[in-house]
Amino acid sequence: MRPVIGLEVHVQLTGAGSKLFCGCKADYRGMPPNTNVCPVCLGLPGALPVPNRRAVVQALAAAMALKCRIPGAIVFTRKHYFYPDLPKNYQITQFERAGGAPVCTSGVLEYLDPAGWVWRRARIRRINLEEDPGRSVYPGGSIVSSEEVLVDYNRSGVPLLEIVTEPDIPSPRAARAFVEYLLLTLEYIGAVNPRLEGAFRVDANISLPGGERVEVKNIGSTLEVERALEYEYKRQRLILERGGRVERETRHWDAHRRMTKPLRHKEEEAEYLYMPDPDLPPVLTRPLLGEAEALVATSPRRLLDEITGDGVPLEVAWSIVQARPAASLYMEARGRVRDPRVLARLLGVDYKGALREAGRGPHDPSNWPPAETMARLARLVEEGEYPPEAVRGLIIPGLVRDPQASLETVLPEKAEGLEAVVDEVIRAYPRAVQDYMSGKRRALDYLVGQVIRRLGRRAVDPREVRRLLEERLGGG
Ligand code: ADP
Ligand code: MG
Ligand code: ZN
Repeated sequence: MRPVIGLEVHVQLTGAGSKLFCGCKADYRGMPPNTNVCPVCLGLPGALPVPNRRAVVQALAAAMALKCRIPGAIVFTRKHYFYPDLPKNYQITQFERAGGAPVCTSGVLEYLDPAGWVWRRARIRRINLEEDPGRSVYPGGSIVSSEEVLVDYNRSGVPLLEIVTEPDIPSPRAARAFVEYLLLTLEYIGAVNPRLEGAFRVDANISLPGGERVEVKNIGSTLEVERALEYEYKRQRLILERGGRVERETRHWDAHRRMTKPLRHKEEEAEYLYMPDPDLPPVLTRPLLGEAEALVATSPRRLLDEITGDGVPLEVAWSIVQARPAASLYMEARGRVRDPRVLARLLGVDYKGALREAGRGPHDPSNWPPAETMARLARLVEEGEYPPEAVRGLIIPGLVRDPQASLETVLPEKAEGLEAVVDEVIRAYPRAVQDYMSGKRRALDYLVGQVIRRLGRRAVDPREVRRLLEERLGGG
């Protein structure tokens, strides 16, 4: 039974500087409750909203990246409902009816699914730009166990993109790939840092043949998009296989218990009393398109095409593009090396892997060396100056510890006098030599180890040591 999946992804424009209609900060993290607020985002009477130009430009850039149809003007709409985290009693959002006009409609995203390394396509229904509500905090842990509710308006009015797909996604794994690729695309625009806590939330719709669609709300990570859909897929399949009916409903993803739970029936759109916001004139898009276009100049797709065009395997190119600093380094250094594939491996596999091992983030540019250092290292590797073991075991870890270090200080000494050390070891371990001569080939590994130990920081290729030992001992 094949599922049909459509997603609604809410992404905070953490890179927009300020909130959507006031000067409070778009990134409220680390602030004491209710300190990132003003009359506008508290909904005080008489306070008037002014659209944040940067947020609108980033939304238009997202529309371009997703190849959407952009209208001549976008119109903000009021969506009315009562809830403590919504001080105006309406959310300023967008709507394609009731006189409104969203940022854009009918686009498409081609996204890479690393499971199988295939490109997939999902049509985009529309993109809305809207306000995030405030945050309700339950001191007792949950809405049921708390005696009181606290409200923090630091988040109230943060710009939020709502991106809605058509039901084009074929599997839970592909849904995760879609969200990851979408977030990467928005990150390259400079619109979001998806690693910030709460920077995005996903509502996932899934149906099986013969069943109604179920919407799973409140999914907070890409891994959980896959898990929640996997759970929901199995739940629905079981019902259908037993001859039951899957009802149209909204469910909630419980990340701790890893299951979906029934939430509520869905309101009808009519209950929201949509109307164009009389405080906000339509925003003409044409004067902003040039600025938006500049933001989409380096898209993940363009970079992937460039890097694989150099002969780099797609897996390695994808690893590089996922970490923006690595992608910038690659583009800067590729012209200074003979074989860009060597550079690509160093960046996307070796250096990134060493960062992970050291518990350092690949997204922080200060964890990466300057392009000149990487280019020179790549040339040394190309020329076979250092064996791969020395590059991975000594040079790269040295740079990871201090990315600004000059290459000289992390390069190991060359293994001069290797033959003398080999002779020394042969003299020092007669038993092992005896064992090897009498046919115990494992004894040679021991001798190789002893030579490498004595060489200390000097770089050496273990195969070279082995060859020398065999030569001295007459092949065993
Ligand atoms: P709503 O008005 O309830 O938000 P929409 O028709 O706008 O509903 O669709 C919301 C989401 O549900 C979209 O992402 C869409 O792709 C998805 N969707 C629509 N039909 C199906 C279906 N049969 N199975 C799975 N997802 C669906
Ligand atoms: Mg919806
Ligand atoms: Zn404010």
